[in-house]
Amino acid sequence: MAADGGGWKIAFQSGSFAAADIVIAADGANSKIRPYLTGIKPFYTGLTAIEAVVYDAAINTPRIHRLLKGGKIFAFGESKSLIVSSKGDGSLAFYAGRKISEHGYRDSGVDFSDPAQARFAVEQEFASWDSIWLELFAHATSWTLRPQYCMPLDQAWDALPNLTMLGDAAHLMPPYAGEGANMAMLDALELSLALLSAEFEDVHTAIAHYEKNMRERAKAAMAMTLESMEQLHSPSAIDYMTQIIGSGEAWERD
Ligand SMILES: Cc1cc2nc3c(=O)[nH]c(=O)nc-3n(C[C@H](O)[C@H](O)[C@H](O)COP(=O)(O)OP(=O)(O)OC[C@H]3O[C@@H](n4cnc5c(N)ncnc54)[C@H](O)[C@@H]3O)c2cc1C
Repeated sequence: MAADGGGWKIAFQSGSFAAADIVIAADGANSKIRPYLTGIKPFYTGLTAIEAVVYDAAINTPRIHRLLKGGKIFAFGESKSLIVSSKGDGSLAFYAGRKISEHGYRDSGVDFSDPAQARFAVEQEFASWDSIWLELFAHATSWTLRPQYCMPLDQAWDALPNLTMLGDAAHLMPPYAGEGANMAMLDALELSLALLSAEFEDVHTAIAHYEKNMRERAKAAMAMTLESMEQLHSPSAIDYMTQIIGSGEAWERD
């Protein structure tokens, strides 16, 4: 992307170009456009998850499939988490999370591109858990290490008149409070309202207004996420989760 008059010229890998008066970066955690606004980078949160997929879950992991019932499983123990999600195509995905240094798995010599090594590493991690989880690991594929990063809570930058961002590009956070997509959708709504509002004298002011509110809102969500991540990877994770579900039930009743 390069400045072009008052706007931007964007080059795509395909060789095509686009001209834009305003660019809204919605290109996720590894945004290529964010650096045009700020050099602030995400920090490592101290937790890494191992992600993998099981296809045809009903056939390959029948016990877990029956437990899932098309929904999610959150399992906790020994300060580790195992989050299993049903997918619409009959597959399931799981995230096995634990606190470890940023390059802890790499330094331990496990090559996660080798499914046999990845499976062995996870089986070691959960060796003391119930044997039901073993069928999950035995049939898993697409193993990926996911070190969890978060944008600094106090991040700030000067608004530009023709460039802004939303979603993970603006406020990447781990998934342990389930707020990332919610924030991204609210960003889109608030940004569009600001851009269309007669309240602001120009686009620059509208973007500055949106970004100020977005950063405040994201700061609260990121703080809640880091607190939740900490609690869910502590010895009292089950108590914490039970309390959240309990308060949710109370909210529904009210
Ligand atoms: C395991 C897990 C569970 C989650 N659970 C929840 C939850 O329960 N609730 C919740 O609210 N959030 C949840 N999230 C977070 C949520 O998925 C993200 O916050 C959300 O997807 C961010 O949306 P986004 O549009 O900003 O980025 P993305 O969804 O990452 O979309 C960015 C898009 O930009 C495209 N792109 C990137 N670079 C380029 C490029 N150079 N050129 C063209 N296109 C590009 C990508 O292909 C992608 O389609 C979870 C995340 C994970 C990993």
